[in-house]
Amino acid sequence: MNVTMLPKPPRVGLVSLGCPKNLVDSERIMTKLRADGYDMSPDYAGADVVLVNTCGFLDSAKEESLEAIGEAIAENGRVVVTGCMGKEAEVIRERFPDVLAITGAQQYEDVVAAVHQAAPPVPSPFIDLVPEAGLKLTPRHYSYLKISEGCNHRCAFCIIPHLRGDLVSRRPDAVLREAEKLVAAGTKELLVISQDTSAYGVDFRHKAWPWKGEEVRAHMTDLARELGKLGGASGDVWVRLHYVYPYPHVDNVIPLMAEGLVLPYLDIPFQHASPDVLRRMRRPANDAKVLQRIRSWREQVPDLAVRSTFVVGFPGETDEDFAYLLAWLEEARLDRVGAFKFEAVEGAPATAMADQVPEDVKQERYEAVMALSARISAEKLGAKVGSRLDVLIDAVDAETGGATGRSKADAPEIDGEVHLRDAGGLKPGDLVTIQVEDADEHDLYGVPA
Ligand code: SF4
Repeated sequence: MNVTMLPKPPRVGLVSLGCPKNLVDSERIMTKLRADGYDMSPDYAGADVVLVNTCGFLDSAKEESLEAIGEAIAENGRVVVTGCMGKEAEVIRERFPDVLAITGAQQYEDVVAAVHQAAPPVPSPFIDLVPEAGLKLTPRHYSYLKISEGCNHRCAFCIIPHLRGDLVSRRPDAVLREAEKLVAAGTKELLVISQDTSAYGVDFRHKAWPWKGEEVRAHMTDLARELGKLGGASGDVWVRLHYVYPYPHVDNVIPLMAEGLVLPYLDIPFQHASPDVLRRMRRPANDAKVLQRIRSWREQVPDLAVRSTFVVGFPGETDEDFAYLLAWLEEARLDRVGAFKFEAVEGAPATAMADQVPEDVKQERYEAVMALSARISAEKLGAKVGSRLDVLIDAVDAETGGATGRSKADAPEIDGEVHLRDAGGLKPGDLVTIQVEDADEHDLYGVPA
């Protein structure tokens, strides 16, 4: 049996100087880097690159910043400088010509790009939350917002808890502050990510923090509601929830979708449907009534899009288990489905399990799931022809004059797209209502309405 060895994520050391505002900037940069698959290094020696976030408010602060850069160069040698002293790049270059890159305060994309260049991220489907293509810098109009790190579960095929430890949530006020800054900088869509979004805040026992004169609990529902308010009365900031497990309290975010605060979209990694396989996978929220709950969610929010991923060929998966999965998918009629063939990963308990499924059987089952979900997707998208949809424009093609965007049912990189023949002056980040003219298995085609 082939066992996949995991690449080591690059490590970033951080020296953050100056005022609390600078600290928030550092936090934001590190959150983005963590979402891109980087680890933090607590010391110079273990870092692949050191980021020095400088302060240039007073001469003494400048001197302290220069000393910090000098120390990082001496101890590690691979240094990226950001923050207020970035305005005085020539002073830094004169003293430290070996600095890899210098960017100014709040130039988040530039700092992250410099770190990507100094220590390129190693994409791994087994540990990354952000889709591989998303590892390129996300455009300003959508942003991944990581709300926690690690996981309290121990799924048999997964090595995340081993690598990242148990769940550690970020404070809700810190998440909201970061989201506010992202929105102020032009973000139109916040993609909430974590290993287990429904478990957000359990490590804080859902304690509340002050936020804008009120209190916000470290809880998925509270956080989702507050994020939804960032768009103001016009509601033009989309909030999309990823990696939601169907714990009972997920029912409480459905009304937020009905109110328009959160997108009618749930990304739930079911991974299988057969109770036997789920038990052996040690999956959380393994609830036999899940189909019933999806039905009830759809009654409350008719345009709810549910996306999920499934693993086929898990050790011990029988023909009956697989038939059960196909019948379940036929009934659930999920909007988006991704499938993976089980892969033995170094360190995951399932790697040593008996009854590994032969590769040709995995391949057959994979193809069957993909064919079924393509048919269901084509039927569901076909039913949208003639309707009007809100679309967020991602890209405009200068050559063809067309544009590509996404409806509320489409997350970037993993779901389908909406293609417009004529961009008609639209630009990335614009929200537009379109009339759907045509559909295929994954995408929609339309014109501005
Ligand atoms: S819920 Fe399971 S699959 Fe997801 S990170 Fe935790 S252990 Fe891994």
